[in-house]
Amino acid sequence: MSDTTPYGSIIIRGARENNLKDVSLDIPKRKITVFTGVSGSGKSSLVFGTIAAESQRLINETYPAFVQQFMPRYGQPDADQLENISAAIIVDQQRLGGNSRSTVATVTDAAQMLRVLFSRLAEPKLGAPSLYSYNDPRGMCADCEGIGQVAAMDMAAVVDESKSLREGALLPKDFSVDSWWWEIFANSGLFDMDKPIKDYSEEERFNLFHLNDGRKIKVGKIGLTYEGVVSRLKTGLGSKDPESLQPHVLREYEKIFTRAVCPACHGTRLNQAALTSTIKGKSIADLSAMQVNDLAPFVRSIEAPQVGPMLGALALRLENLVTIGLGYLSLDRESSTLSGGESQRVKMVRHLGSSLTDMTYVFDEPSVGLHPHDVGRLAGLMTQLRDKGNTVLIVEHKPDMIAIADHVVDMGPFAGSKGGEVVYEGDFAGLLGSGTLTGNHMKKHQPIKDKVRAAKGEALKIEKAGINNLKDVSIAIPRGVLTAVTGVAGSGKSSLIQGCLPVAYPETIIIDQNLARGSRRSNTATYTGILDNVRKAFAKANGVEASLFSANSKGACPDCNGLGVIYTDLAHLDPMITTCETCEGKRFLPEVLAHELRGKSIADVYEMSIEDAAKFFTEPAVAKILQGLVDVGLGYLTLGQPLSTLSGGERQRLKLAAELGKKGNIYVLDEPTTGLHMNDVDTLIGLFDRLVEAGSSVIVIEHNLDVISRADWVIDLGPGAGNEGGNVQFEGVPADLAKAKHSLTGQHLAAR
Ligand code: ADP
Ligand code: ADP
Ligand code: ZN
Ligand code: ZN
Repeated sequence: MSDTTPYGSIIIRGARENNLKDVSLDIPKRKITVFTGVSGSGKSSLVFGTIAAESQRLINETYPAFVQQFMPRYGQPDADQLENISAAIIVDQQRLGGNSRSTVATVTDAAQMLRVLFSRLAEPKLGAPSLYSYNDPRGMCADCEGIGQVAAMDMAAVVDESKSLREGALLPKDFSVDSWWWEIFANSGLFDMDKPIKDYSEEERFNLFHLNDGRKIKVGKIGLTYEGVVSRLKTGLGSKDPESLQPHVLREYEKIFTRAVCPACHGTRLNQAALTSTIKGKSIADLSAMQVNDLAPFVRSIEAPQVGPMLGALALRLENLVTIGLGYLSLDRESSTLSGGESQRVKMVRHLGSSLTDMTYVFDEPSVGLHPHDVGRLAGLMTQLRDKGNTVLIVEHKPDMIAIADHVVDMGPFAGSKGGEVVYEGDFAGLLGSGTLTGNHMKKHQPIKDKVRAAKGEALKIEKAGINNLKDVSIAIPRGVLTAVTGVAGSGKSSLIQGCLPVAYPETIIIDQNLARGSRRSNTATYTGILDNVRKAFAKANGVEASLFSANSKGACPDCNGLGVIYTDLAHLDPMITTCETCEGKRFLPEVLAHELRGKSIADVYEMSIEDAAKFFTEPAVAKILQGLVDVGLGYLTLGQPLSTLSGGERQRLKLAAELGKKGNIYVLDEPTTGLHMNDVDTLIGLFDRLVEAGSSVIVIEHNLDVISRADWVIDLGPGAGNEGGNVQFEGVPADLAKAKHSLTGQHLAAR
């Protein structure tokens, strides 16, 4: 072993997951290795699909066979040899979903530390830590059961008073005419089915809405328990956590229930006893509502030697949140409201507090959502993790983050089948002279635009916006140009743009990174809507019915129903996915596969990359849609790729492609450069120009200095985050922003 790898290396030989072409490399342990390369070049296939997957598989193998049968099975990654892999912890941008009981405090373990402190130091003394927990019956507010909110029913959505039961007075789906519940009311003998509800007596109203005495009503041959409508809705739908509901049930829920702050605890979730017990005059709810920026020094100021180590540990955890650029959050912030980048950094803080060593930490673009000003501090934390004796693997695109690497692995040369190779391996200095796309881009950047486009028509106005941290912000966004909204994380960019613009201009189209919770049938091809035309082309060429080529027709493989894979559902875990053995993943019956279009079967089409398909399909409607996808830089995706395998950035670009060719819209995109290599960013800027040229207004929330340089107008928020933000720092053209010394963004633009 050479001097540069005193702790040995992770050894990879002949890796072939997805597009990888027999990749062989050694990754030094206890060092920072950054993986770069254009989108689709194979970074994730190597880091997540090979290294992290193997680690996970090895960990699972250590469980007893009995436990293993309940765990998702990770197949052995496709590689000749994988050695020296230690336990991997993946810190990605998966949002911290979870129910409304999950907050910044619970996910960072600060909640637990605070409770212990209160149990030891607070006056009056309550005793045990759990008396301060809203997840414990002894600490929670009884009225809202620790949720902080109560569901109020909107009676106008429940009953149409002008109608009778027979006319369908009850509006929720479960009570519609001839439903089970309707039959129960009809057979109860309690109501005149033809009397409008507004004419009911007090007693009839009580019976219809609230009666719940356990009586049985005969419907058909069976006896069913009677329950009034309001009572039934409360115990049924109303008792559910809305986040756990399926989309169609959620829509019904949202029609009937509105959420209001709990009047008993004012949203603090705790009971009276917990709220009156204080340290230095502050209750645990008061502390949880403070910005972490302010809370950290408060905790440091508590003098209590008997719990010194605990205080120190809590203060350090809070200070790590500040360091990582999250000081503007409060501990009581629900984790489901955090963005992907914020979620990732919160998870990071949890690991920074851990004393484990010789772990492999794997990060997916940790700088997402961070202003250039904060990237340096993030880099510092990565170095700390390494210096504690861990191996740190980072997929990144930002030059400042690539620069901290002890070792760089550059994938390429291009995407999909034109990528999958290691094009450079070595130190950062070597990357600059390597001649690869990444190396070349490190040295050049987009010049600041000097001739900006003129606005068209009346500006988009937001007047005196005050939500979240915004301080009476009034702005005018020019129409028909590209506007960049900038500022440190937490300065108020999303509050202003996503929160206020659609209220003033409902025609605003927000192109975000979420896709409607897709069914298992959703893949690139179904999403783009080209399949109808593809089937017709196959039908015409073979003189058969088009429906034969549909994945839910009689031509589909009966064992996987045209999915090509079999899903095995496991309680509480991700489903297990295996290739269908009957059709070997080809989705269709052999007789369907025998029908060809210009030498390709329908299964071949699903395996084509979008770029190849764009050349293969001469049918104009299909070719046009596919070309749009190539234009947004997604040519490397295959048509059959399930949408669930796409990253957030890829989903956003898929949506963007659908908008190309439309005119005169208002588009909002939040950090569209996520997941994009510098080379792809240039393509993206070209797309924004196309939308603008077609007459649309494009508003991007961005940190990327190349995008900011090419904008026609910039709105900078700040100066800081949270309470210290929420003001407009600058409005104008990028050339002037670079001269605005009071703006952090301006300073970074000028210093490039
Ligand atoms: P990167 O991380 O560099 O953006 P990926 O490793 O995600 O690249 O993708 C490399 C290639 O593998 C791309 O062509 C991509 O479409 C393909 N690919 C990635 N994941 C899957 C998957 N689950 N199924 C099929 N193809 C995939
Ligand atoms: P940016 O988009 O610039 O990162 P945000 O608009 O997300 O900033 O946040 C501005 C302030 O508003 C921050 O203090 C943040 O904690 C707060 N905030 C944002 N969203 C919510 C929310 N859903 N609930 C409570 N506070 C929020
Ligand atoms: Zn309450
Ligand atoms: Zn099958």
